[in-house]
Amino acid sequence: MSTENTAPKRLLTFTSGGDAPGMNAALRAVVRTAIHSGVEIFGCEMGFAGLINEEIFPLDQRFVANCIQRGGTILKTGRCPEFLERKTRDKVRAFLAKQKFDGMIILGGDGSFRGATILREEGGPPTIGVPCTIDNDIAGSEYTIGFDTARNTALDAIDKIRDTAFSHERNFIIEVMGRASGFLAVDVGIAGGAEIIIIPEFPLSIEDVAQKIQQRRRNKMASIIVMAEGGKTGSSVTLSEELKKRTGFQYRVCILGHTQRGGSPTAMDREIATTMGYQAVLAILSGQQQKMVVYQGGKTALADFPTPEKATRFFTDEALFKMNQILS
Ligand code: ADP
Repeated sequence: MSTENTAPKRLLTFTSGGDAPGMNAALRAVVRTAIHSGVEIFGCEMGFAGLINEEIFPLDQRFVANCIQRGGTILKTGRCPEFLERKTRDKVRAFLAKQKFDGMIILGGDGSFRGATILREEGGPPTIGVPCTIDNDIAGSEYTIGFDTARNTALDAIDKIRDTAFSHERNFIIEVMGRASGFLAVDVGIAGGAEIIIIPEFPLSIEDVAQKIQQRRRNKMASIIVMAEGGKTGSSVTLSEELKKRTGFQYRVCILGHTQRGGSPTAMDREIATTMGYQAVLAILSGQQQKMVVYQGGKTALADFPTPEKATRFFTDEALFKMNQILS
């Protein structure tokens, strides 16, 4: 029996896909845990693009100093269509082998994990993923890094809009992010006291929304509709125009957009990101691979990367959704 220790000795880490507040906290934990474990750790900028350009550099304690409180990612990130091509991945794989990398830790979303899976199937290094997206929509994890910061940023915006809505007796439709899922809209809508929450998972037609407004028990002078970007009612602008026609009420539109992606991470995001980054290094050093660190039942655990067919997590808590209808 071989007594050779096969635990990785030389790791590469990078951030990939969309940015999310808390990525830096996760990176800091990855780098410092690796160094503490006696493992060499390198990074590259701009996700897979940095790898294709072979622009890697060693990471040390100082590189990640003073970044835990910063939004975005100090390693920069991006989408990289070239990595979808086999010949590009062959070149990357040869480079990683030449550099003797025996493990990667990728901070990103399901697309980045898919890239890492394909690279491994083609002979690339083992990978552990840390799920980062403000949308909280990666199948297999109940939490993704950045979600808490984004919902608090959106909530802060709603509170501010509510002040002016009340003062001028105006109605607003506030559009939040979330891709095809409604997690952000539901949390922000409940916490922000929205009259109506529109999410893709429980679709409402324009007529449904108009009826809800016409049938309300109290004559509200200022009301807020929170709408997920993937809400199937159409665009928030179209909804506003149609509501004016059908109910006579004017709804002003505010699309919160990329403000939700930035900003200093909350305590929750920093803590979860730190734990996930730490656990990612322990996982790869213990021989785990092609898994992501997830959050399940209030604790971190390891789970398989999501399959492409079921990569997205959807909001299913109908009771919570109904509660808001009663309270509004
Ligand atoms: P996220 O990681 O946030 O989900 P993307 O879906 O844009 O973001 O994926 C990030 C990158 O991962 C892509 O730009 C691409 O370089 C790589 N990637 C995604 N899907 C694949 C795939 N099927 N094959 C190879 N690489 C992929």
